[in-house]
Amino acid sequence: MKPGRCKPPQSLTWLLMAFSLFPYTLSSLPQGRSDSGNERSGVDSSELQKTREARERMVNEQMAARGIRDPRVLEAFRRVPRHRFVPPEIQAIAYADSPLPIGLGQTISQPYIVAFMTEALELRPSDRVLEIGTGSGYQAAVLALLAREVYSIEIVKQLGKQAEARLKQMGYSNVRVRIGDGYYGWPEAAPFDAIVVTAAPPDVPPALVAQLRPGGRMVVPVGRWVQNLIRLRRTANGLERESLLPVRFVPMVPEAERMPR
Ligand code: SAH
Repeated sequence: MKPGRCKPPQSLTWLLMAFSLFPYTLSSLPQGRSDSGNERSGVDSSELQKTREARERMVNEQMAARGIRDPRVLEAFRRVPRHRFVPPEIQAIAYADSPLPIGLGQTISQPYIVAFMTEALELRPSDRVLEIGTGSGYQAAVLALLAREVYSIEIVKQLGKQAEARLKQMGYSNVRVRIGDGYYGWPEAAPFDAIVVTAAPPDVPPALVAQLRPGGRMVVPVGRWVQNLIRLRRTANGLERESLLPVRFVPMVPEAERMPR
């Protein structure tokens, strides 16, 4: 790791933080996989029923109450079973108001931040979206309900493969996952109507800007220690840049740093 790169806190710290922040826990969540949970087919398993209340509370208290307004976005968060995207031992706190560890030193963002970024993308059902940083696949699942096609790139092979299998098993058939360095985007599938970056690069990657369709929006956390969530919009007059929110994301790393030593 280069000097200046920040290292995410150890999992245990995250767990303790999450437990202390979480005002309620879910009782007896089923562990491991179940073969239902296909939200897209409309099948409503008892597992989904049991966790519905936790999702509803998450949407009302963490999202709607803090200004997320788009009804399609709120509905997507009611439908995606977030607990399926975190390791079994922390499923009970999956709906907590905090980021959670997903293994290999990575985290799934706080629900509010995922919702804020999703809303900022202004998705239409016909859109094609690129996500950088598949992680657990949670954000990709939300995007899959709001857009036509989702392309997602993850640099850590084990995370990407796991997320790909999970999304497929859950029926999110409009998501494609690729292992690689998201810095260069997905040129064969470009241009995109929306691009969301869920790890922080020091500057906006030029290849991603080039893969944005006219009218397209990109939401990206930019910076090293101090990060800002930026929205870029490609208009007839060029690129419009808005600063949306101060944030704290894991750094976007170049491929060389991920190579096995
Ligand atoms: N969107 C994810 C959370 C992402 S955490 C979710 O919903 O769970 C950030 C992710 O970005 C991590 O999984 C990390 O491995 C990945 N990442 C970091 N640098 C990257 C790069 N250059 N290309 C692709 N993915 C990268």
